[in-house]
Amino acid sequence: MNDFDINAHEWGLETLGVRAGQTRSQEGEHSEAIYPTSSFVFGSAAEAAARFSGEEPGNVYSRFTNPTVRMFEQRIAALEGGEKAVGTASGMAAILSTCMALLEAGDHIVASRNIFGSTVNLFEKYMKKFGVSISYVDLQDYAGWADVATERTKLYFLETPSNPSCELADIARVAEIAHGKGAKLIVDNCFCTPALQRPLSMGADIVIHSATKYLDGQGRCIGGVVVGNAQDMEQVVGFVRTCGPSLSPFNAWVFLKGLETLNLRMKAHSENALALAQWLEQQPQVAKVNYSGLASHPDHELAKKQQSAFGAVLSIEVRGGKEGAWTVIDSTEMMSITANLGDVKTTITHPASTTHGRISQQERDEAGITDGMLRIAVGLETLEDLKTDLARGLAKI
Ligand SMILES: *Cc1c(COP(=O)(O)O)cnc(C)c1O
Repeated sequence: MNDFDINAHEWGLETLGVRAGQTRSQEGEHSEAIYPTSSFVFGSAAEAAARFSGEEPGNVYSRFTNPTVRMFEQRIAALEGGEKAVGTASGMAAILSTCMALLEAGDHIVASRNIFGSTVNLFEKYMKKFGVSISYVDLQDYAGWADVATERTKLYFLETPSNPSCELADIARVAEIAHGKGAKLIVDNCFCTPALQRPLSMGADIVIHSATKYLDGQGRCIGGVVVGNAQDMEQVVGFVRTCGPSLSPFNAWVFLKGLETLNLRMKAHSENALALAQWLEQQPQVAKVNYSGLASHPDHELAKKQQSAFGAVLSIEVRGGKEGAWTVIDSTEMMSITANLGDVKTTITHPASTTHGRISQQERDEAGITDGMLRIAVGLETLEDLKTDLARGLAKI
């Protein structure tokens, strides 16, 4: 009666989002309990010894396992269709833990070019320091994905859709290339979440999330998670337990609540974003709209095949360069001017002077980040209010 039995049926994604992983204490609480405790007590010296040695399953210390964190891990593992998950203190901790667990000095990573800025820093400043090398390729350069591999290539890493230009990679195709090279494919599934895209079902080996974004969905907590098969995850779990970038039980509980509405939110985000993108495409001051839900987008067919909807993030190019873009931002009255995303509140940012402000003009050109580009992570406000907020600035261009 108390615990959700994941094996009892082939549950739907909505059911898994609400119930997977839930265990109840003897109190019979309906909502998941938070266990804010650093350690756990034992009935006897023999039980303590058995738990420490691993002979007997059970909790010892919250850096290793915690019941609230475990509920979150099992829920996200069920949603992604993975055997096992491990929660981490942040999305970056999830990426770091995976690299530390699966790589050694001399190994090589192949990554897509337009990945999250801190991920590039993690690779360039820290992985390189320990003798790991990295090559970057364009998302859809499939010949390149194969050509840059070396004998020491262990990991392929990509984000799809890319930020902020909204290009896609064919996950199944890159997975095949990675496996042909004897490497594993990691997908950072932050933008789509398992509600829209399930990379493991397309051949990826590991999925990484910044739970800070859509898994929480309401901008409250920092956290991350890694999902994969039992063998890979044993390595990653080992790193997290020993080195300590563990997820706090309170944050895990917030994410559990977020996952309950994940499917609904991602559908609603996608509907709002698509309608806004279609409207933006008709505005004369907007030169270009990047959103894979539009029939005009070069990856529209791939997006339809690979995703169940198109997500919340879009970018536009307004006429008038930086001045035009800043005018639109400064004329908003409701949208949040911030580079964050993954929130029910719409956010707007000018990538060329914020998230991508420290890279060279040439690198920005290569990444397709123009001075007139704005990125909008569309939230759940009323569509007409979003249009009004943008129309005010567009009218001044
Ligand atoms: C935010 C983000 C991260 C890092 O997550 P944190 O929780 O901030 O550490 C990694 N990848 C992507 C795509 C992100 O948007």
